[in-house]
Amino acid sequence: MLTHRRRCPFCREKVHPEAVVCPHCQRELDPLKETSPSPWLWILTGLAGLGLGAALAIGFGFLRERRRWLEDRTIRLVRPKE
Ligand SMILES: [Zn+2]
Repeated sequence: MLTHRRRCPFCREKVHPEAVVCPHCQRELDPLKETSPSPWLWILTGLAGLGLGAALAIGFGFLRERRRWLEDRTIRLVRPKE
């Protein structure tokens, strides 16, 4: 029994791994090609993740700094001058 099935890149239907023509949309498929993404896609995904992480870190850092600044100002406003 075949457990590993790949998906047609055109109609996203599951097709036989050795099929050369999709039985659902009748388009030609690359025979015996693994559907795992190419390495550069992983690299791109990794870079995108890094960029997103950096953006989030900067955003959170900015928010924290801003909150601290607001708290400082509030304390200064509440406390009377000595
Ligand atoms: Zn198809």
